[in-house]
Parts: sequence; C-alpha cells; structure tokens
Amino acid sequence: MTKRVILIGHPVAHSLSGAMQQAAFDSLGIDAVYEQWDRSPMAFAEAIAELRGDDFLGANVTIPHKERVVPLVDRLTDEAHVTGAVNTLTREGKRLIGHNTDVPGFKVALDRLVGKQKMPRQAVVLGAGGGARAVVYGLITDGFQRIIVFNRHLHRAEGLVKHFGRHAAHMELRAMPWHDSIIESELARTRVLVNATSIGLTTDDTPIPAETLHGDLLVLDLIYSRTRLLRDAAAAGATTADGGLMLLHQGAAAFTLWTGQPAPLELMQAKLDEARAGGLRSAEGERTGVPADGISADDPAG
Ligand code: NDP
Repeated sequence: MTKRVILIGHPVAHSLSGAMQQAAFDSLGIDAVYEQWDRSPMAFAEAIAELRGDDFLGANVTIPHKERVVPLVDRLTDEAHVTGAVNTLTREGKRLIGHNTDVPGFKVALDRLVGKQKMPRQAVVLGAGGGARAVVYGLITDGFQRIIVFNRHLHRAEGLVKHFGRHAAHMELRAMPWHDSIIESELARTRVLVNATSIGLTTDDTPIPAETLHGDLLVLDLIYSRTRLLRDAAAAGATTADGGLMLLHQGAAAFTLWTGQPAPLELMQAKLDEARAGGLRSAEGERTGVPADGISADDPAG
C-alpha cells in the first residue's frame, strides 16, 4: 500500500517541503506520497484524528498549528514537550507521536550564521509562535544567557517565557512589549537577531525599522527568501541568512523519523533550489519573486 505523509497548515500554498520530500522518497524507492492539506483551526482536530489510519506514515505541521497540535497527540518527544510545539508527527499503531525537528534545523542554521566566531550569548527574537519556541529552545541549549522575545501580542511572548520555566532558570529569558525604541535599545546590546514572525512572508514588509539595525548583528530570518529585513540588515553591514538551511534540516530530520533512513540531503537541497527557482512557495517561509539569501547548495550538509 502506498503510504501517505501530510503537510497540514493554513494556508499551505504550493509547498517547497513537498518537492524535497517526494524526491527523497522516490530516490530511496520508498512507496510514499507527500500531500498538502489546508485545514483551518476549526477543521484541524478532525484532520489530526484521520492521521491515525494505517495508510499514514506521518505528517508535518506548519503555520499556524504547531502549538495547537500538542494536546491532540498521544506522546511528545522531549524537544516537543519542552518547546510546546510540534512540527512532525509519526504514527505507532493508532498512536501519534509529536516531534520538533525545527530545533535541530534552527541549530544548523545558527551554527552556519555564526561561522568560526565564538557563539554569542545574547539574542533578540521577534515572534512568539511555534517557530519562535524552537528558536528560543535552540538558543537556551546553545548556552545563550540573555534572550529577549518581542511579540505583537505581548501575552503570547509572556506565555512562551512562562512555558520554558525551569529550562531557563539559569539565564535571563524575558518578554518585552513591541516598541521600536525598546527593540532598538535591546539590539544595541545584542549580536543575534532572529525573525520568527511571518512578517515578510507574503508581503515586502519588515518587522522593524532599518535604523534599528547595526553592522555587528548576525540576522537570521526564518522566512526562506531575501526579505526586506535581510536586505536592510545587509545594508547596515550585518551578516545575514534566510530560513533555507533550517527548512532543509528540519525536513531531513522528519524524513528520517518517518522512514528510518538517512535523508538524501544534497538531493533535497537541489529540489528546494529548483522549486524556488520555479516560483513555488513554502508554507515554511518561501516567498515568490525575491531570491533567497545566503543559503546555497554548495554545502548542503550544513
Ligand atoms: P505562528 O502562526 O505560530 O506565529 C506567527 C508569528 O508571527 C506570531 O509571533 C505572530 O504574532 C507574528 N505575526 C504574524 N503576523 C504579524 C503581523 N502582521 N504583525 C506582527 N506580528 C505578526 O507561525 P510559526 O511560528 O509557525 O511561523 C512563523 C514564521 O516562521 C513563518 O514565516 C514561518 O514560515 C517561519 N518558519 C520557518 C521555518 C523554516 O524551517 N525555515 C520553521 C518554522 C517557521 P502574534 O502572536 O501577535 O499574532
């Protein structure tokens, strides 16, 4: 029986994940299809229940459902439990297991961004959704000592901080209200800036004014394109990267969870590049029209 793997989001558009996952299944002779389901919050629980059927290998969960799925699964891995966010599901019989492969994906992207420099200790994170939770956990476990989270709705950032609780007891993790002046003063004492909002995903907007950026920053935008934020940051002299490497590595880790096999990284990278060049969009952050920044196929193993 052909197995099914589903990407569930709202919207899911034309997914880059589909291009890379289907090519990976085919290249290893795995009889599976990668499908996209656009499910609104109202229809989401029913869709998750359907995944318990025998024909499903598992699923990816994306914007805006990564937190919503948590109470709907039977077991969470440590990373999914600690973050309170799930981006990958596997099935054991009728039981669904929730994983978070955004965490290792983010860490690969951060390592590449930092390069040979010493890992910084201070970061500003914009956004407090499912993606931001993986980012914050990745930063905590990489030894960051001060992480400030800004979010349009402050209560969500406060909920994120509260959620991490004892995992952040040894360091300073704070939610702050979204004001340009506060963001600017925090950025002045920070090396790492991560955009985990969806601002810039479908429009050419930027979450923060260009004047708040400075040349010592390392800026990672989880969106898989050369967003206005990245263009402004590069103009200010900062080092920048988009979400391409994170997308590749979260997908590779998910592939291994579904199939038990190592992911064909070079092929997946090539398929991502091809799909992007063809103008497809990703539920994880690719936007048409503007080429991706800084993440290339020349070292897909990250
Ligand atoms: P969620 O829906 O869980 O969170 C969305 C976030 O964006 C929230 O912080 C939300 O703020 C903020 N936001 C959305 N619109 C606006 C706006 N107009 N003004 C201010 N803030 C806004 O999504 P995810 O966390 O899953 O994804 C966030 C982004 O990260 C997406 O662009 C996604 O594509 C990308 N991503 C990329 C990955 C990769 O592999 N490269 C992996 C994971 C995510 P509020 O809470 O106030 O609504």
